This record gives sequence, structure tokens and C-alpha cells, in this order.
Amino acid sequence: NEFKVAVARKQLFLEYQPFIQIDSGRIIGFEALMRWHHPISGRMRPDLFIPMAEDTGLIIEATRWAFREACKTLKRLITLTGDTALFISVNFSAQDFDDPAFLDELLFTLHETGIHPSQIHLEITERLLLRQSEQIKKILVQCREHDMQIAIDDFGTGYSSLSYLHQYPVTTLKIDQSFVRNMTSDKGVLGLVKSILSLSENMGLAIIAEGVETQQHVDMLKSLKCQIAQGFFFARPMSEDDAAELLQKQAKNPP
Ligand code: C2E
Ligand code: CA
Ligand code: CA
Repeated sequence: NEFKVAVARKQLFLEYQPFIQIDSGRIIGFEALMRWHHPISGRMRPDLFIPMAEDTGLIIEATRWAFREACKTLKRLITLTGDTALFISVNFSAQDFDDPAFLDELLFTLHETGIHPSQIHLEITERLLLRQSEQIKKILVQCREHDMQIAIDDFGTGYSSLSYLHQYPVTTLKIDQSFVRNMTSDKGVLGLVKSILSLSENMGLAIIAEGVETQQHVDMLKSLKCQIAQGFFFARPMSEDDAAELLQKQAKNPP
């Protein structure tokens, strides 16, 4: 009930964490991450409320709101910087795909906010694809036909069925934080990261390393020719205003 109120009373907000092109150090996009400012408990982490929002179906409305908000922010950032290649990534839950109006809603919001579908990355998890649902597949194919990007979040942590990678129109793999964290100390994990990178290369998929926290991580990813990274080493999730400021700084002093 409280979450229902949260959606209606605008207690939700988004933070934005940049994606960095490793070679140039440039910000090329942002992931939108949901937060709840609870009137009593204060700021709540998504791990605490997203599962509950999923179980109650309230996630559908929250995701709609987040998608619209993320598009509006992207529009602002593009207008501010003139960087028309910037993109934004939004997290989706399996339940979002149960909404028969899913695609129409997305397209309507894109049209309304003036964002081209190619500037949108839908982040979904492996678990969602393992549902083997024709409905999900159909929607994802349609999203791809409209030129949206489809990223697999936490790649490698779900069930290791790789066949879905060619059954679904996936464009991007996000290497899970746990792999990035452990690749510098564990040869087995490093082997996994290398395999994911060559898998992505062979399949023509883009790759993003998540949870990059140290210079050592960056150096290793560079040597492995991984091109895009995200993590506390570069920036923590931040407000829309801070994201705008960071981009303006970058425009003045390109890295
Ligand atoms: P995720 O999509 O894998 O997002 C990455 C999480 O890792 C974020 O936590 C981010 O703050 C954190 N992170 C980023 N870089 C680093 C790093 O270098 N080190 C460490 N230790 N952590 C890092 P956050 O924002 O608490 O989100 C947690 C999860 O909640 C997300 O994981 C995602 O599964 C879910 N979530 C967040 N926003 C949404 C949303 O709008 N919709 C849905 N369905 N799920 C969301
Ligand atoms: Ca994500
Ligand atoms: Ca992730």
C-alpha cells in the first residue's frame, strides 16, 4: 500500500550512473536507477522495494514512470550538450512484459519526449528470458525492430543456458559486478571474463563491464579490449543535475 502511495505521491526518484568509454574516458550514456524517498524510513534501496513492487504488480506503473522520467532527462542532457549520441538505459522486470500496452506505452513516451528509440537500452535479466515466453520474445523483437538496444544485466549469474542469446534479439551483455571484482585475484574468473568477451565478439554483441571500482580493474579491462565500463571508480549514481553538470564539464574539458 505504501508503495502504491509512493508512485502516486511522487516519492520515487531516479539517479543516473554514467557509462564510460574506457579508451577515451568519455561519458557515452547513463543508467537510470530507481530510489524511493520513504516518508518515515527515508531513502530506500531498490533491492528492498523492487521485489515487493514486482510481487504486487505495482512495478508496471513504477517502470512506466521511470521510463518517462529517464526519457525527459535524456532530452535535457542532449539539449544541454548537443551530444545526440547519448543514450539512457532503463531496468525492466519480467512483470512489465505482462502489460499488453507495453510497447505502445514506450513508443508513445518516446514520441512525446522526442527521443529516438536507438537511444534507449532496455536492461533485462537472464532469468526473464528463461521464462521462454512467446509474449516476451514478441515484444523484444518489436523493440529491436524499432531500433532499441537490449542489454542482458548481470550477465553470467543466471542459469547458464546460452541458447537464448540467439533466440532473443539481444544487443549487449553487461558483465556482472562479481566477475569484475574477482577477475584480478582469481584466474578462473578471469577466464570467464575472457570467454564472455570473445562470446560477445563472435556474436557481434556490445559489452559493458559493471562494478568497476579500481584502476587495476580498468587496466585489466583495457588489456582485454573491453570498451565500456560502469562503476564507482568512475562515478556513483547521481542526481539529474549532477549528471548535467558532469556532462558540461566534459564538454568544456574533453578527457
Ligand atoms: P543493477 O541493475 O545491476 O544496478 C547496478 C547496481 O550496482 C546499482 O545498485 C548501482 O548503484 C550499483 N553499483 C554500480 N557501480 C558499482 C560499483 O562499482 N560497486 C558496487 N559495489 N556497486 C555498484 P542499486 O541502484 O542499489 O540497484 C540495485 C538493483 O535494483 C539494480 O541492479 C536493479 O536490479 C534494481 N533496480 C534499480 N532500479 C530499477 C528499476 O528502475 N527497475 C527495476 N526493475 N529494477 C531496478
Ligand atoms: Ca541494470
Ligand atoms: Ca547489473
